[in-house]
Amino acid sequence: MDTKTATLCLAVGAEWAGAALCLLTRKSALRTVFAALGMGFLFAVVFGDILPDAGLYGSGWATTLALAGASFALAWSLQGFGSAALGAGGVAGLGFHNLCEGVEIAACSAMSPLAAAAFIAHKVPEGMVSVSLTEGWTMAKRTAWAVGAACLIPLGAWMAIPAAFQAPVAAVASGVVLAAGLKASIRIAKGGLAGTEAWGVPAAAAAAGVAVGVFACVFA
Ligand SMILES: [Zn+2]
Repeated sequence: MDTKTATLCLAVGAEWAGAALCLLTRKSALRTVFAALGMGFLFAVVFGDILPDAGLYGSGWATTLALAGASFALAWSLQGFGSAALGAGGVAGLGFHNLCEGVEIAACSAMSPLAAAAFIAHKVPEGMVSVSLTEGWTMAKRTAWAVGAACLIPLGAWMAIPAAFQAPVAAVASGVVLAAGLKASIRIAKGGLAGTEAWGVPAAAAAAGVAVGVFACVFA
């Protein structure tokens, strides 16, 4: 097995591990901590990775920010159709992010061991985020999504999306993911704190998530 294939396989496994941690945790307090960690991570990755990728390699910053802002506003208004609609939008955005990651891995000529490790590690909280956004779905649907979403990474590596198409869609996806993440964070902060001892624990988990996200953006 070559390094790229190994990296892709380990990334899929890492995303599954993060999703399984969230899905299998029965204690609501611990689930809240995982969700908070995932959300902190999500914001770091949207601003540190997904948006810069779209802006630097794609259609330029003005177009990128306009697309992201418009899709954020549109996704936020999806709540009128129920919170499930916004969650589904966020999930679709993260799925596209996975496809793009596969494309990036396939395109890069050589990956340093540190970059590969950071890339693989960042899939654990991403798996948590992805599954946290499906709160309210049946367990069977959540599991199917968690399993399938991770497989989008090797699929992206195999299908190679043209850059001209990738950048604007990534900008739109980041707006949608941001709206869904913000909504989920508000839900965690409002009701999800039930069962945790204090605000400090989820807040510290969210801060740790931001730190992991920044680390992943710098090294991966
Ligand atoms: Zn990612």
